[in-house]
Amino acid sequence: MSLSGELFLGFERRATNHTFHALDAVHGRPLSPAFSAAGEAEIEAACALAWSAFAPYRAKPLEERAAFLESIATHILAQGEELVRRAHEETGLPEARLSGERARTVGQLRLLAAELRAGEWLGLRVDPALPQRQPAPRPDIRQRRIALGPVAVFGASNFPLAFSVAGGDSAAALAAGCPIVVKGHPAHPGTSEWVAKAIVEAARETGMPPGVLSLLNGPDTALGAALAADPRIRAIAFTGSRAGGLALMSVAAQRRAPIPVYAEMSSVNPVVLMPAALTTRAASLAREFITSLTLGVGQFCTNPGLILAIEGKGLDEFLEIARAAVVELAPAVMLTPGIHRNFEQAVGRMAAEGAVKLLARGLEPGAPHCGRAALFSVSARSLLAEPRLAEEMFGPASVVVRCAERGEVLEVLEHLEGQLTVTLQMEEGDLAFAQALLPAMERLAGRLIVNGWPTGVEVSHAMVHGGPFPATSDGRSTSVGTLAIDRFLRPVCYQGFSDALLPEELRAAQLDRRPHRLDGERRPGDAR
Ligand code: NAP
Repeated sequence: MSLSGELFLGFERRATNHTFHALDAVHGRPLSPAFSAAGEAEIEAACALAWSAFAPYRAKPLEERAAFLESIATHILAQGEELVRRAHEETGLPEARLSGERARTVGQLRLLAAELRAGEWLGLRVDPALPQRQPAPRPDIRQRRIALGPVAVFGASNFPLAFSVAGGDSAAALAAGCPIVVKGHPAHPGTSEWVAKAIVEAARETGMPPGVLSLLNGPDTALGAALAADPRIRAIAFTGSRAGGLALMSVAAQRRAPIPVYAEMSSVNPVVLMPAALTTRAASLAREFITSLTLGVGQFCTNPGLILAIEGKGLDEFLEIARAAVVELAPAVMLTPGIHRNFEQAVGRMAAEGAVKLLARGLEPGAPHCGRAALFSVSARSLLAEPRLAEEMFGPASVVVRCAERGEVLEVLEHLEGQLTVTLQMEEGDLAFAQALLPAMERLAGRLIVNGWPTGVEVSHAMVHGGPFPATSDGRSTSVGTLAIDRFLRPVCYQGFSDALLPEELRAAQLDRRPHRLDGERRPGDAR
């Protein structure tokens, strides 16, 4: 199969006169074909299609929607290695990593299909009528959750499969019953076209309405802003820069009818090296830290960008081993020239800070836009005085915060901005200190980790990939795991309805098939 570069407006393909090229990540050369950029007419067509698909799509039986998600997974896998090769050309990410990412993408589609069938997400509740109640009777009240409407999904540069056209946000929105209009990331339009084809094939095969997916490509921000402003779009899902997320939040808030924005933006993922852990295993901690720091050339939102530890021999040993490892690190190609430029600028700004010490940089790059690792240190007092020293440098860079005593570790955790994760490296002897830090950790981040590293996010039922601002725009939710579906639903209650008028899953004959609460009491449901 070859790429055409055309947009997807539902099942139709459209070429436009305004085109752009993907770049080969390693050499910076344009890749074929030319990709059509969407303009006003294409935004209008995609949003009209999504709106007309909304009613029939959300009315589809859960089993059919689940089969659609599973069929997308099957079609992605059927594309074989061509998909992985194209993603590698466009992003520079190793093929092995991309194969793993494809497995995650397929896995999360299947997990959400299973979640759909289980039906808990419907949130069914019934408070039966109490006609004899005194002093006033109670009417019959029933509740379920319904889809919000079409969702604009912004593909992320650093996950061309798992957080792009059929990634986590798309899977959650489609599971909830929301058609999607994807703003493709301009760094990987070929990968996006392959995946959009898989979705369209799956939609045709399972009888979904055409507007369930549109893919709009384009190399400038005006497209995304116009899409976010369209009144038929009812929610936004985004992963990327803080500036991009904030811009979309602003567009959403200024609409005549504002809509929710689920933006995953920036995080430095503090890791606390606790005293007993540093005493017993400083060397292995240093090696594990370097592995986590350099994974994917540091281009993960979960990169360990801030290390906290108390001054002492253990920290000195940790720093010496980490420093020696960093100076030996070979640079590797970053996702885009722009991301590399941003990274170098951020590292340059950090190095120019008077209070910060540059401990080590990786080897000089021999090729364009290769990320060169950087390790800094700073005192806790300086970091507390200058919060910008804890800002994300998207790439393989980290700052070690030297704390004079335990109270400073707590003070730093209490002063940091919201994070996706916070980690403790600890031993039994650190228990009391860990217990003292826990309330601040809970206030700080969405995922608390003990004796692991933040990179690597399990896609599961209990996972939270979210956190207070600016980790995300809405810390009440997650973008990874089955709870992600909640972002695209809202509760509706039906008071005094006859059985015939009720939605099917709330009718007397259907209710026992799915988990529900009857007058507050939990009932499991027997649907298989
Ligand atoms: P980005 O610049 O935020 O772009 C992500 C997507 O949002 C693109 O499709 C982009 O479209 C769109 N967009 C950006 N600004 C917009 C605006 N003002 N209005 C409407 N749409 C907008 O992210 P990126 O290209 O992936 O990387 C750039 C920087 O983002 C990195 O250097 C890094 O600092 C950060 N980043 C963070 C994470 C994370 O997980 N925390 C992940 C990736 C990137 P256009 O490109 O067409 O404008």
